[in-house]
Amino acid sequence: MSRKDRRKRFGQHFMVKPELIDKMIALLNIRKRDVVFEIGAGRGELTERLAQFSKKVIAYEIDERLFREAKERLYNKENINLVLGDAFKSHRSFDLLISNLPYSRSSDFICWLAGKRFKRALVTLQSDFVKKLLAKPGDKNYRAISVIAQIAFKITIKDKIEREAFNPKPKVTSYLVLIGQKNRLKDVRFIKTLFSFRGKKLSKALKKLTLSNLKLNDGFLSKRVEHLTPDEILYLIEKLEVKR
Ligand code: SAH
Repeated sequence: MSRKDRRKRFGQHFMVKPELIDKMIALLNIRKRDVVFEIGAGRGELTERLAQFSKKVIAYEIDERLFREAKERLYNKENINLVLGDAFKSHRSFDLLISNLPYSRSSDFICWLAGKRFKRALVTLQSDFVKKLLAKPGDKNYRAISVIAQIAFKITIKDKIEREAFNPKPKVTSYLVLIGQKNRLKDVRFIKTLFSFRGKKLSKALKKLTLSNLKLNDGFLSKRVEHLTPDEILYLIEKLEVKR
């Protein structure tokens, strides 16, 4: 794979502003007893800094060449566990998470994090994706991912990051987003399936899913799927869990 291909495939946009790295570290508010998980160590600059303030850093890098570069930089650091592989397959536990995320994996990231137990996460996300995460019922951007994010997390935009902060420059502006945990969502499949019935009434969706036996009032059942609030969908999930 050429360098260009790897950059594209793995969403490699390196952060080139040291002051932004400082800011990310400050916002994450690391304590000495925290285990920090990093997605996409790249060449390991941020990884090295994280290790100074935390108990341990678990950093994943999927690109073997970058992994080797990072390994060289970090070989003598005892509290860094650098792993070659896909972070979204990891079952390791952690307190804090940080990532200058590969943008094509933003949705996978949200679904993966929704199932974890954690204190805080700080990530860079593209502005369009952040709009989806924060969209309200009825908005055109209101999707399964909005519901998953709003049930699972408390999301705060901390800063806007211009394209120039990265090399190579991404096509659009990003945001620095702080994520706290609200509800742990072990299974996001129901929400995704429910949203495949956008435009339909809840009653119809439930019928297709052979869940018509759920006891719900008529007003609720006649709402269209894309008008259900995250709280209403959480209520449905809880009802389903009791039923099982
Ligand atoms: N942390 C560095 C690199 C960020 S670019 C910096 O801030 O400059 C995103 C990084 O994530 C790239 O190094 C890319 O190879 C890596 N990456 C992409 N998908 C990944 C995955 N599924 N698991 C782990 N690392 C991944």
